[in-house]
Amino acid sequence: MLDLKQIIRPNILSAKPYSSARDEFKGIGEVYLDANENPFENGFNRYPDPLQINLKNEIAKLKGCPVENLFVGNGSDEVLDLAIRISCRPGIDNMIVTDPSYGMYEVLASLNDIECRKSTLNEDFSLNLDNLLGLIDQNTRIIILCSPNNPTGNILDREAVKQVLDQFNGLVLIDEAYIDFSSEISWTNDLSKYPYLIVSQTLSKFYGLAGLRIGLGWASPELIDIFNRIKPPYNISSSAQKIACEQLKLSLPNKAYFERAKNNLIVQLQESELVEKVFPSETNFVLVKFRNASLVLANLIKAGIVVRDRSGQTGCANCLRITIGTEKENKKLIDEIKRIQYEESTLN
Ligand SMILES: *Cc1c(COP(=O)(O)O)cnc(C)c1O
Repeated sequence: MLDLKQIIRPNILSAKPYSSARDEFKGIGEVYLDANENPFENGFNRYPDPLQINLKNEIAKLKGCPVENLFVGNGSDEVLDLAIRISCRPGIDNMIVTDPSYGMYEVLASLNDIECRKSTLNEDFSLNLDNLLGLIDQNTRIIILCSPNNPTGNILDREAVKQVLDQFNGLVLIDEAYIDFSSEISWTNDLSKYPYLIVSQTLSKFYGLAGLRIGLGWASPELIDIFNRIKPPYNISSSAQKIACEQLKLSLPNKAYFERAKNNLIVQLQESELVEKVFPSETNFVLVKFRNASLVLANLIKAGIVVRDRSGQTGCANCLRITIGTEKENKKLIDEIKRIQYEESTLN
């Protein structure tokens, strides 16, 4: 049973949402003189659909999930921000994330003045369930789990996540930004079983639409209603809605390509003496532990190849995160790594 009073901030529950002109008149008019828009048609002179009905129908069809469970945010970063804001009272409540994980959670926590508690992952980046559950107190309002996890690339064990859902009496947000690359099934299938579950996804990674800023939040209709009430009224521009719809109707991205290119990249990296370990990945990137990451990074940058230095993150010493590119890009990376290795072997 979903008890909104227990998990939603009182001021959010009682907040009266902004009522836009398009909220107040939903029929078909002949002339629209209610929103102070410029009347001269240029394709963009009208405000966008605040609830993105066409886009949501398209996404729901694509994902095979009911449209009433869907919220669309200006990137999934907006979904994350709203999830924290509906649940956590600034200066009072806390949230729990894993470490290492996506850095944005901590940034959002601090912007919202929420204490962010970190549960360090095990050495193989699996969930340390006892540690995580031990961090919960009566002011813990939301736990954010990222699966597949960024920057480590692994899926969090289903049983362990189930334990969190069963034992915690607050919101559990599972960030599935990379789910479309993985062989795992989405937690969206369990929404009816877990009323406190929110699943965030995005069109930015697999669907190749990062520039449009379309993030998805899946949750019970009651929670979706709260998201809709507090979001900025026109959070998705009409051009983003229109182009996203068109793009999703075209042929879908090639999942097999990423699988093949990733495996290829992993094999080649493992052959390099510079590489200590390539972590298994259910995403479109690999976390690679080098013997000397800063040397590799500096040389890659000199060659114009930009990868993400994750060596400062917990459990990620000497690690670089490498995104799967085109075949040509991946080859350029591997060639450069071979060159660095050759240079090193002749120097020493
Ligand atoms: C990229 C990424 C996001 C952000 O997605 P947007 O929809 O582009 O905001 C969210 N979570 C994780 C783990 C990511 O890696």
